[in-house]
Amino acid sequence: MDELKRIIRDVPDFPKKGIVFKDITTLLADGRNFQRMIDLMAHRYLGQGIQKVVGVEARGFILGSALAYKLGTGIALVRKPGKLPWKTLRKTYELEYGTDTLEIHIDAFEPGEKVLIADDLLATGGTVAAVVDLVQQLQAEIVECAFLAELEFLQGRKRLPEGKVHSLLQF
Ligand code: 5GP
Repeated sequence: MDELKRIIRDVPDFPKKGIVFKDITTLLADGRNFQRMIDLMAHRYLGQGIQKVVGVEARGFILGSALAYKLGTGIALVRKPGKLPWKTLRKTYELEYGTDTLEIHIDAFEPGEKVLIADDLLATGGTVAAVVDLVQQLQAEIVECAFLAELEFLQGRKRLPEGKVHSLLQF
C-alpha cells in the first residue's frame, strides 16, 4: 500500500491556492501498480453479488470500468450536466463556492439492483453523497462506495451511508 501511496503525486495550489491535489495520473500511468490497485479494490467485492458499478465522471470512469470488467458487471455513468443523451435524473449539490450538478440516465438500474459506486477520491463527500441520492432515487441497492483514496481529515464519509464506505488508501 505504501508504494501505491508514494506513487500518487502531490500538486500544491491546484486547482486553487492552498489546496494540495492528489494527482493519480502517476499511478494510472504505471501498469503494474494500476493492475495492483484494481485487483486489490475488486477483491473485496468478488462474490458479493454486485450487478452494476456506478462510475463518477471523470476519474471514476477509469476505476469504475476496470472494476466492472473484473467483477463481470456493467457500468452506469454519472456525468456532468448535458452530457448524457437519454432522459436523466439530476442532483444539484453545494460546493464551497456555488453548486454543481450531476446526472444519470433514468433507466440506469432495475429496481433493487445491487450496485457499487466508484470514484477515485473521497474529499468532503459532497460528490458521492449526490451520487448516493441519485442511485437511491432509482431504487437500486448500494452495496458500498469504493474509493482509491480518502482524505480522512475532511471526514467525507460522515456524509455517506454508514458502514458503506471503503477506501484502499488513506491520507
Ligand atoms: P468531494 O466531493 O468529496 O469533496 O470531492 C471529491 C471529488 O472531487 C471526486 O470526484 C474527485 O475526483 C475530486 N477531487 C477532489 N479533490 C481531489 C484530489 O485531491 N485528487 C483527485 N484525484 N481528485 C480530487
